[in-house]
Amino acid sequence: MGVAGEASRPAAATAPPPLEGRTALVTGGGKGIGRATAIALAEMGASVVVAYRSDSGAAEETAHQVGGSAVQCDVTYGEAVQAMVKAIGKVDVLVNNAGAVRDNLLLRMKEADWDYILQTDLTSAFHTTKAVMSGMLRARWGRIVNMTSVVGITGNPGQANYAAAKAGLIGFTKSIAKEIGSRSITCNAVAPGYVRTELTEASLTDEIVAELVKRTPLQREGSAEDVAAAVAFLCSPAAGFITGHVLVVDGGLSI
Ligand code: NDP
Repeated sequence: MGVAGEASRPAAATAPPPLEGRTALVTGGGKGIGRATAIALAEMGASVVVAYRSDSGAAEETAHQVGGSAVQCDVTYGEAVQAMVKAIGKVDVLVNNAGAVRDNLLLRMKEADWDYILQTDLTSAFHTTKAVMSGMLRARWGRIVNMTSVVGITGNPGQANYAAAKAGLIGFTKSIAKEIGSRSITCNAVAPGYVRTELTEASLTDEIVAELVKRTPLQREGSAEDVAAAVAFLCSPAAGFITGHVLVVDGGLSI
């Protein structure tokens, strides 16, 4: 008995890569999880555009590695995002990966740090998703993956701004999934636990990391590639019937 859907199509002997002919935009794609994601999507056949804010060297290097292109765009600015998407032409796969932290206990947290994190980790996804949406609706196909965090599910002392933004991203993901599902566009979120990148290097000491690993059932640190594999899966034909989902990639830390 067959079920109609992307996952059930028989694979041809020489099936083309699943994202061949698709253009993928990865925000913050120059380094860390974004870079690993850009590589994973390119391996699936996508033409990858790496968007960066300030580190052109890292972004150019990643773009070179994936045979794609790098574009400067601060995703907190709606007009800049609109201009970037217009220049790219069409975006079939959007990975809202750009993010930042400005940690502090709430009593000491400056309003500027609250605003900065909400803009960078949440409002950015509003700008990018809005900018690519009409093209995806016209194409009647699209994949959107939002990079949230386990702290958006569990909360974390010292990260009220970041946890609020990442929790907001989960509500955003589910709402968009409902808005655009009828056009074969999926919108999902990936929630990593701890991964060693520039983002965490400054804030997590070796002692804290050792403690986190001890509390992780799989007993190791996560890698950017672990997270990229989850993004790649959500963009693959096998995930064609999955939308509004939050895929936790944390070695079991949050269970
Ligand atoms: P990195 O610091 O390595 O990368 C962050 C990326 O975001 C950089 O490429 C940076 O670009 C980009 N970026 C930041 N602000 C902007 C902006 N305003 N406009 C455009 N790009 C911007 O961090 P990670 O790879 O660790 O993080 C990637 C995502 O994963 C983030 O959303 C993060 O919150 C999330 N995450 C990470 C975890 C971890 O443990 N590492 C855990 C859970 C979630 P540039 O360098 O050019 O400024």
